[in-house]
Amino acid sequence: MTQKKQKIVIALGGNALQDANSQPTAEAQLEVIKKTCKYVADIVENDYQIVLAHGNGPQVGRILLASETARDVTPPMPFDVVGAMSQGYIGYQLQQALRAELAGRGKNVPVVTLVTQVVVNDKDPAFQNPTKPIGAFYSEVEAKKLAAEKGYVMKEDAGRGWRRVVASPRPKRIVEIETVKQLCENSIVISAGGGGVPVVELPEEGLKGVAAVIDKDFAAELLAEQIDADILLILTAVENVAVNYNKPDQMNLKSITAAKAEEYISKGHFAPGSMLPKVEAAVKFVKSSPNKKAVIASLYNAINALEGNSGTIITLS
Ligand code: ADP
Ligand code: MG
Repeated sequence: MTQKKQKIVIALGGNALQDANSQPTAEAQLEVIKKTCKYVADIVENDYQIVLAHGNGPQVGRILLASETARDVTPPMPFDVVGAMSQGYIGYQLQQALRAELAGRGKNVPVVTLVTQVVVNDKDPAFQNPTKPIGAFYSEVEAKKLAAEKGYVMKEDAGRGWRRVVASPRPKRIVEIETVKQLCENSIVISAGGGGVPVVELPEEGLKGVAAVIDKDFAAELLAEQIDADILLILTAVENVAVNYNKPDQMNLKSITAAKAEEYISKGHFAPGSMLPKVEAAVKFVKSSPNKKAVIASLYNAINALEGNSGTIITLS
């Protein structure tokens, strides 16, 4: 009997899509994505069943900015729609580049993007305190007008002007999960891009998009739990999770238990909004059921990390 392939959910970070040194154009993004797909293809060649999730912060910001800037000529897109648009074009580029990379290695593996809705709780406390700045900068007068007209929450952003802020609620359920499960048997599936399009479930209306941002690390974790993945691999720009990060006594972590990770979390070693959600997602995943493994590693060393020779591995015990 052939052994069942291991299932892996890979969360791609911002560095997998864009390069800080190049223009934030779609064309430059495709070039970065082509390089990223070489690392992803290495994993495919090691015979894993793969579901890919990715971030979308800068992309969503720009689509929204374009849409808001053009408000006098065409109606601005609502935020949930902008999220879906970003899933579409990032997924399109990943599909094209990954198929080509695999074909070049003699592997014809289908790659498919699934526009993914993720249910959040409309009572999530995050809605009481929106913190994620998105889209354009406005003057105070414009900001107050938008707040009055549209009900947006507007906040002053570090002396740079006023911006809309949205909530970052926790993901509760992936609407298309059964489809992900079916598709990933034979295809590489790109799902929950940007953390998924956040929707709430209303008794009368059913699913309804909301202006919010779900952290892609938490969405990838939920995806991994729900497809019963063996590994959650969070790829980012640094080699390891560190304690005393950026301090003289920085210590890179090779392998830690969930309990140790929680201890470090409580001591404030991981920055909120960047490393903290990754470590929290890793802990949640390994606690979700026995024999799960989470790995936080550099995109450029992904394959080494899967072999245990790089990155930070989080296990239950
Ligand atoms: P991504 O786009 O991959 O989600 P983020 O910027 O959100 O990337 O999070 C990864 C970043 O977190 C790293 O590049 C690093 O600068 C930062 N970081 C904060 N605290 C830590 C820590 N304790 N150990 C390692 N990296 C950390
Ligand atoms: Mg991040």
